Parts: sequence; C-alpha cells; structure tokens
Amino acid sequence: MDSYKNVETTANPDNLGVKIERPVVISGPCSAESREQVINTALQLHKLGIKIFRAGIWKPRSRPGNYMGSGSVGLEWLKEVKQLTGMLTAVEVATKDHVEEALKNDVDILWIGARTTVNPFAVQELAESMKGTNKQVLIKNPINPDLDLWIGAIERLVKVGISNIGVIHRGFSLYKNKKYRNEPLWQIPLDLKECFPNLFMICDPSHICGNTELIYEVSQKALDLNFDGLMIESHINPSKALSDAKQQITPLELDTLLKKLRIRKQNLDFSYSLDNLRKIIDEKDFELIRILSDRMNVVKKIGEIKKENNILILQRDRWESILHNIKLFSEEFDVNTEFLTNVFKLIHQESINQQSILMNKD
Ligand code: PEP
Ligand code: MN
Repeated sequence: MDSYKNVETTANPDNLGVKIERPVVISGPCSAESREQVINTALQLHKLGIKIFRAGIWKPRSRPGNYMGSGSVGLEWLKEVKQLTGMLTAVEVATKDHVEEALKNDVDILWIGARTTVNPFAVQELAESMKGTNKQVLIKNPINPDLDLWIGAIERLVKVGISNIGVIHRGFSLYKNKKYRNEPLWQIPLDLKECFPNLFMICDPSHICGNTELIYEVSQKALDLNFDGLMIESHINPSKALSDAKQQITPLELDTLLKKLRIRKQNLDFSYSLDNLRKIIDEKDFELIRILSDRMNVVKKIGEIKKENNILILQRDRWESILHNIKLFSEEFDVNTEFLTNVFKLIHQESINQQSILMNKD
C-alpha cells in the first residue's frame, strides 16, 4: 500500500478560485431534464449557499427505454447556470465524446460514474481524452465492491498526468440490497484513504440510500468518518423527476438537512485530555490482557483435571450458565449483551482449543 503514498492527488474545489467551506457540498438534479428545471433548481440552491451544481447530461441507465438525459443541449443550460449564479458545474462523463463536449462547454468538474469505473478500457479511454486538463476529476467507486478497480482508475488518471483527482463514495451494488440501494461498505473507502492519505473524498448518500429517509443518517456518518464533503441530488419537484425520483430532495429539504448535520472537529483543542484518556485506555487494555491470561491458566488447570478423569471437554450446562451470567452482568454494567456474548464465545472457543491441545498430548 505504501507505494501510493507519494501520489499527490490535489482535487480541491478551492483550486478553482472559489472559497468553499468544508464540508464541500455538490448538489443538483440526477438528470438535467429541461432548461427551466435546471435553472430553477440552480437558482434555489445558489440562494441557499450551494457553490457546486451537478446535473447528469448523459445518463447510464440499467435498462433501455428509461430517460437517458438531455444530451449536449443540457450543457448550454449549465453554462447559463454559471453565468447567472457563478456556481461551479459538475457532470458525469463516460466516453471521450462526453469529455470533449464537457470541456468545450466549460464544465468545471468531471466525474466518472460507477458503471464506468468498473471498466478499465473505458477508464483508459477517458484518461487519454482528459490528458492535459487541469479540471477536477472525481471518480466514483465501481458498482461492485472491488478496491483494486477504484485504485486502478486513479492510477490510470495519474499516469496521464492528471493530478486534480478526488473520489466519490456512492456505495456498492449487491444482489437484492436491503436497507440501502447500494451498500455503503465503509471499510472500502477507508482502505482507499489508507492508500492515498491526501485524497479528496466525498460521499454520495443519494445513491447509497436510494430513498430520501436515510440521507441524513448516511451524510452524518460520512462526516463523522472525515469525508471532505457530500454530493446530494436535489430537484425542484422530486416526485416528477425523470430519473431517481425516489431519492431526490428539494433544495429546501437539502438546506434543512445540511443545517442539522453536526460538524465535528479533527481533534480536541486540548489534546492533552485526549492523551490522558488514551493512557487510561492503554492501562485498561493491559489489565484485560492480564486477566485473560490468568483465566487461560485456570482453563488449563481444569483441562488437566478433565484429562486425568477422561471427561468431555465441552460441558453444555457450564456454557449455558456462563451465557446466563453474561446476560445478567451486561445489564448490570450496561455493556451491549450481543457484544459481550460474542467476546465470550471467542474466549470459550479459545479455552476449548487450549484444553483440546492439552488433552490430546501424550
Ligand atoms: C448519478 O450521479 O446520477 C449517477 C448515475 O451515479 P452513479 O454513477 O453513482 O450510479
Ligand atoms: Mn442519480
């Protein structure tokens, strides 16, 4: 993983000459549908302080026959948005023609969609066509949970000399996703961040959730995990949206949601108090390990007795009574019962292993 650490990825909307506070918010409709819809949504978002406007121009639809976006004419509407509001604009590009059109029409941020990141040929073609641009390029995660494909897309762009790279976490498609449209699998973007510590990373709760109810919760989680920003779809009339109607919110709803988000500090101002608490944790961990070691010694003594008397290792009643005690103590000491049960299952498993080694030794 170390080899990535030198790769400078500097995507940062501030580079485009507009001061944007953290968290960076990108918002706008899933698809540009008409001039009126685009301009009205943008005006409302601008009034609420949003600085970057998104709109899909060419839509990658899973099934034919669904709305495929306005096509290039939508880029004219985005140009108008820039003139009217000064907002930066962002669109998805999936082919070299899209890149050419978007650059010609002065789009500020290009993003590579999840259905494109999965395809190394397509990413390579996009990378070649973007060569020489200093535009921001944001790469969505591939639809399947494959960290290498995501890393590979970043590398392909870096290799042609593009350094203004950031990523968008939009969740992963699993067969029959339940709670979410696309499972967040937070560990994957966190692992990516391990590879590229300076990577500009935002979260797209709209595509993770697929509905409006969970957007707040997922947005908060992303901020708590130190994401740099959010991309949230908004539409002046979500129920009439031609794509992703279920997950879009109005600009006003977006404003309410953003105001509710808790922005946490990187660290305590008085970091020494955090250090002190960490020292206490270290001591407690040491105590835990010592107690586990003592416990294991007792387990071994019991093993000796079982061996001498040739009795079974697993004593069902005993395990049941341990489980019973766990439940009582977890309530008394306010520790999550399921968590404690899992911990004790592991301890019990290890105790059995140790006794089995001992009893089968000649
Ligand atoms: C979108 O942002 O509208 C979109 C199509 O996203 P994704 O590539 O994440 O599906
Ligand atoms: Mn969408």
